[in-house]
Amino acid sequence: MHAHKVAPGVHVRLRDIAPDANGGLTKEAGRARFAELNAELDVMQEELYAAGTHALLLILQGMDTAGKDGAIRNVMLNLNPQGCRVESFKVPTEEELAHDFLWRVHKVVPRRGMVGVFNRSHYEDVLVVRVHALVPEPVWRARYEQINAFERLLAETGTIIVKCFLHISKEEQEQRLLAREQDVTKAWKLSAGDWRERERWSDYMAAYEEALTRCSTDHAPWYIIPANRKWYRDLAISEALVETLRPYRDDWRRALDAMSRARRAELEAFRAEQRRVQ
Ligand code: AMP
Ligand code: MG
Repeated sequence: MHAHKVAPGVHVRLRDIAPDANGGLTKEAGRARFAELNAELDVMQEELYAAGTHALLLILQGMDTAGKDGAIRNVMLNLNPQGCRVESFKVPTEEELAHDFLWRVHKVVPRRGMVGVFNRSHYEDVLVVRVHALVPEPVWRARYEQINAFERLLAETGTIIVKCFLHISKEEQEQRLLAREQDVTKAWKLSAGDWRERERWSDYMAAYEEALTRCSTDHAPWYIIPANRKWYRDLAISEALVETLRPYRDDWRRALDAMSRARRAELEAFRAEQRRVQ
């Protein structure tokens, strides 16, 4: 598998995982494999939607410029827009801050049949919040277990959860921030804050390591995605999604068959009734 799946209880060390990995593939071979996986994902989304027994929640986290927006654009390319929804989590509003940190998140989890993508998530509450000490340490420390309990609730009630950390190197981030400054079409994304956050890189890596270590569970695993190469990032994410969804397909197909048989029986009963009254 191209993504690194974090086994529960294993201590994550990000510097041991190469952000510029390519899985021994050329870009052409990687793009071709990605296209196959994307086609499979498209079929599975249809089944997920029609069966209506599960939701899929994809959580994307990563430093600024790690490629969250690009990954969403590419990985969702073939999906039916009617069955997808993207939620972006920004600095909390006054109303959101007046509630528990999961309030705004729980409200927008995908309903059964839907694919929900989180561009940032409740993990910000143990990342940026920790790095900038926005709440006291005992408050953010308690959140790892609160997050695990929340995700367990979602999983036990039909939500399939895939969490991806887009892992780029500090050097690659510098290149991307500089490229943004050069490219007029990307200048709208410029933010002096991104350079300021970059100064806290090692604090962020420590916060990510603890979140990935403490919150990778069987019901909601973390995947570390080598993300210096955009084509490899997309490939690794879609592979993680496809491999997670595949085991459900037999159930979905059985549910769809049962629905089809029931509909057909209904239709036949209707036709028989019509013949009787004629
Ligand atoms: P962007 O993803 O570039 O649109 O930026 C969104 C910003 O919102 C980032 O700087 C995040 O760190 C910030 N953000 C998201 N969630 C939270 C949170 N729970 N607390 C504080 N800041 C947050
Ligand atoms: Mg940003």
